[in-house]
Amino acid sequence: MSLRIDKLSAAYGQARALWEVSIEVATGSVVGVLGRNGAGKTTLLRSIAGLHPRVEGSIVANGSEIRGLRADQVALKSVALVRESGRLPSSLSVSENLLLGQRLARLRGKPGRSLAEIWRWFPILEPLQERKAGLLSGGQRQALALASAFVAEPSILLLDEPSAGLAPPVARELFSVIGQLAGSGMTVLVVEQQPAWLIGLAQQCYLLEVGRVVDVGPVEKLIENAGSRLM
Ligand code: ATP
Repeated sequence: MSLRIDKLSAAYGQARALWEVSIEVATGSVVGVLGRNGAGKTTLLRSIAGLHPRVEGSIVANGSEIRGLRADQVALKSVALVRESGRLPSSLSVSENLLLGQRLARLRGKPGRSLAEIWRWFPILEPLQERKAGLLSGGQRQALALASAFVAEPSILLLDEPSAGLAPPVARELFSVIGQLAGSGMTVLVVEQQPAWLIGLAQQCYLLEVGRVVDVGPVEKLIENAGSRLM
């Protein structure tokens, strides 16, 4: 098991956002987390990535406990968080963003993927090499965010609502790449508000409601059980 979250709880001041959440993601698989606005999906990913200060429970990544580590230390454990709407240094070009990722790869003791390989996985980025990230469209920015994580050769990818703000054909393209990344051995935990995107992609899904896991199973089963509570 490459990512095991056990009884994870997190709070903002006195307000709890997650209650004893347990999730398992096997190596090379895609696991989805579904939930409406405010369910705790982003807090979950931030907690794993070392960006949330008040977390209890256990988070084991590739066999080592990472709960309590800072974000930079978690990143060195080969865990990458791709945030919603692809937050990237906007004044850097596409290539410069990717070179930053290569630097992180070297800190992880890996060579980093070549730009030639990146263009093969993300062909839409190749003609945009010199464009500043701040001038990209939403879909291009999401692709660059994913590519910047991928270039640094993480073994675990955490994806925060990859479909957010994207036109369906653009999102479809992105989810197809995500499926191929998992096929190449990467472990993926993807948070989504729209369950349809996880059909055919995630082997297992967890439904979060007000900070608690209330259902686990294939996405079709969760949709059937939850009905309109998921929309
Ligand atoms: P969305 O889909 O809208 O991004 P989410 O499922 O990602 O929602 P979170 O953003 O994790 O949910 O929020 C979980 C709970 O924590 C919500 O009740 C939210 O109001 C609260 N919360 C989130 N960020 C903060 C913060 N900085 N301070 C206080 N409470 C917060």
